[in-house]
Amino acid sequence: MRDALHKEVSDLVTAHRADQATFEGVGPITWPGGHRIAVNFTADFDAMLLRRLNDEPSEQLAKGEFGGRVGIWRLIELFDSHAMKATFFIPGRICELYPRAVRACAMSGHEVADHMWEHRVPSDPRLERDHLARATRALTELTGKRPVGTRSWHTAEALTEQGYLYRSHGSDAHGPTWSHDGNGRNRLIELPFHYAIDDAMFFSFAWYKSATSEQRLSDPDRVLEMWWAAFEQQYRAGGYLNVCLHPFVSGRAMRIAMLDRLITRMKELPGVWLASCEQVARHVAETCPAPSVTA
Ligand SMILES: [Zn+2]
Repeated sequence: MRDALHKEVSDLVTAHRADQATFEGVGPITWPGGHRIAVNFTADFDAMLLRRLNDEPSEQLAKGEFGGRVGIWRLIELFDSHAMKATFFIPGRICELYPRAVRACAMSGHEVADHMWEHRVPSDPRLERDHLARATRALTELTGKRPVGTRSWHTAEALTEQGYLYRSHGSDAHGPTWSHDGNGRNRLIELPFHYAIDDAMFFSFAWYKSATSEQRLSDPDRVLEMWWAAFEQQYRAGGYLNVCLHPFVSGRAMRIAMLDRLITRMKELPGVWLASCEQVARHVAETCPAPSVTA
């Protein structure tokens, strides 16, 4: 029993050290134009893909499909009405399912970034690269611009090989950092998010494979106040906030109305930079280059 516990602790320490070895903080960031906070509104355009991968019944697939038919258009309209730029993380297969919506994201000047080929990363390295190349090609062909960012489990090696600049998938810091493969190679900027600022954690009724007791239908006003508190804290600190949305979750009318109130409140304060992830990543790369570059 004691031996088993010691082994468990020692495995945890090893895992922690391995993770720590891939991480490089960048120190305080000065945002452009005198802004005091950068806010990334991001939307993961999963539609029914993730649910299909999990073999969910058709009524659950339909909930995902709402995102492609209705939710995505409402989010584009919302961001456009505020003259702001957001980032849409889009699986390659969505280009086949909802090409008009993907094109509309790009036409409105929003960033279109990778969210895997079909919402999974194969463990075989050759297949992984094939999936990433397919998704990159599909997004590039539809939008006319090669994606530079991803929200995925892809390895740093595969991502840098295909020219990616940033990843927005981790939660191990609050602001932007550099990450690498543990050997100081294949560096990427990490734009962290957290489930506390993720619509699915509050509003996802029948989150995939979830039990009845796990259904979430929060009061939008309550969520607005929680997210506002997170924003205010970062605003005072001069920091960064990444808001994670899903068209099939936030595309519902009362949640669009809540996001409208949230963005309106943010814009009432001076120095709020509502930017795309690419804009933030490029600014960080320029002003806080990776240690190996400055060495
Ligand atoms: Zn997703």
